[in-house]
Amino acid sequence: MSREIDLMILGGGCAGLSLAMRLAKLGPRCPQTLIVESRERYVNDRTWCFWGTPSAQLTSLVRHRWSRVRVSAEGRQREVECASSPYEMIPASVFYEAALREVAANPRIRLTTGTAVSDQPVRTGNRWAIATPFGTHSPRWVVDTRPVRSPRRGDAVLWQSFYGREILCETDRFDAGCATLMDFLPTKDGRIVFVYMLPVTARQALIEITAFAPDPLGPELLGELLDGVLTKSQAISKSETVRVESGSLPMGLSTIAEQTHRNWCRAGLAGGGARPASGFAFQRIQRWADQCAEQLACGHGPCSQSTDPWRLRAMDDLFLRVLRARPEAGPSLFMKLFAMPDSGPMIRFLNDCPRWSDCWRIILALPPGLFLRELLKGLSSRKDLRAQPA
Ligand SMILES: Cc1cc2nc3c(=O)[nH]c(=O)nc-3n(C[C@H](O)[C@H](O)[C@H](O)COP(=O)(O)OP(=O)(O)OC[C@H]3O[C@@H](n4cnc5c(N)ncnc54)[C@H](O)[C@@H]3O)c2cc1C
Repeated sequence: MSREIDLMILGGGCAGLSLAMRLAKLGPRCPQTLIVESRERYVNDRTWCFWGTPSAQLTSLVRHRWSRVRVSAEGRQREVECASSPYEMIPASVFYEAALREVAANPRIRLTTGTAVSDQPVRTGNRWAIATPFGTHSPRWVVDTRPVRSPRRGDAVLWQSFYGREILCETDRFDAGCATLMDFLPTKDGRIVFVYMLPVTARQALIEITAFAPDPLGPELLGELLDGVLTKSQAISKSETVRVESGSLPMGLSTIAEQTHRNWCRAGLAGGGARPASGFAFQRIQRWADQCAEQLACGHGPCSQSTDPWRLRAMDDLFLRVLRARPEAGPSLFMKLFAMPDSGPMIRFLNDCPRWSDCWRIILALPPGLFLRELLKGLSSRKDLRAQPA
């Protein structure tokens, strides 16, 4: 069976649905689109947070904002007031519900759930052939958001692995106006480990244990670490778990799956959607979805995630290499960033949009010795590589 469609989106998660939401708004100009998603149904499987700067998108879906954020290490604590760019949260269930509603409103888009596509698209003439359990489709364009493979050592400079529980306590326990971004535990076995806590009421919070490490870590190990943290607090240990979430995000992918053809592109995490230094991906994916929908609306092929400016890439690369080489210095580096007298440069840096002056202020806030050493190591290894015979 062969069905002719304009666009096929493989994977209807954050990237696939974000693109579909933009396409749905095109009305009759929307390409005939088929989204093929392997999951049977959508559940509240993750919590997306980002800085609410003026360029942030989908803010009508935000369900909580924090005007203060906190980091702490070795008994020291820094609290940053960020009311002008609050830290904001969209529960995945709210996003999925909105996306599915918008997609269903445009008859030119069809979503098939419970269907996995395991083959790579094959080029036949000026179309692709994609086999699904329900027949072969021949779209003109393909946007592929499927993960390339399971997380593994070597595929990223570091992996950000996390396991979290949304808990409900019997008594008031939290300050719902302040999110704890990083509460560092002692660094062990080359892993930087911290607790991330998002309180949504005085009794309810998402508490996650997160590790930056060369290896991706599974939820079992992280769950044990989280249990250790929670049992220390009597009030929290008596809580009820409402939901759990976990994942491993690449920080500095070694190779980003390239766009191999102008009519087929990778998107989402597999297409370099996550910011190397932070793992933040949600707002980057929204910006890509805008650009890609615009291209498709003009009858051009889909586009992949645009690359970051070189100054941001260079800073991210160096920062990650320092964290990997000197994990024990990690907590104090983050504490220094959050101790900057003005939080603007740090927020813009974490949010992908630093100005030149922000980059300088961040560089000046960090200890130069550590970074120079890694910079020189990086330069000499590149020189060694160039000196090797081909
Ligand atoms: C628990 C969690 C919390 C996160 N929190 C944040 C955050 O706070 N801020 C932030 O910026 N980023 C966050 N991220 C990172 C990032 O924003 C998300 O991972 C985001 O969902 C990535 O979008 P994606 O489309 O690449 O992947 P996904 O959303 O995972 O979408 C990929 C889709 O492809 C489907 N699929 C897989 N294989 C197949 C197949 N063979 N055939 C068909 N379909 C297939 C999957 O079912 C899935 O729906 C978080 C990630 C996780 C896992």
